[in-house]
Amino acid sequence: MADINNTLYNEIINEHNLRPYHKHSIEGANYTLEGINPSCGDEITLHLCVEDDIVKDGAYEGDGCAISQASADIMLDMIIGKTRDEALHLCDLFLKMIKEGISDKEKEELEEAGILESVSHMPARVKCAVLGWRTMREMFEGKD
Ligand code: ZN
Repeated sequence: MADINNTLYNEIINEHNLRPYHKHSIEGANYTLEGINPSCGDEITLHLCVEDDIVKDGAYEGDGCAISQASADIMLDMIIGKTRDEALHLCDLFLKMIKEGISDKEKEELEEAGILESVSHMPARVKCAVLGWRTMREMFEGKD
């Protein structure tokens, strides 16, 4: 099982890195925030277009390791079309998964992001995986 999960994990990280859907700038973003993970040198600038409390569109620009960039790409896949509260809920689940673990049911809610659970066993990579999510939370909770 561990090998199968590792293969899937690598495939998903590679796929999002080589062909990110959301790595570009967007017009009309009303939320923009930069997140930095100095321990690895990862940088992400997140742009969100939020209307009526719904994330209408989103994108990121950045530079850094595969996990930091892929995790941001996966996050945007998940939060576009969701309300701000739903996006923050997914963020809480994601951080909980990495830090203390979550139930299978909670993991289902995380869809593709659930594959990053392996990162919880790689302490040096944790800050990379959570960078995009942390930035999103700061963006929403810092401006109200
Ligand atoms: Zn990194």
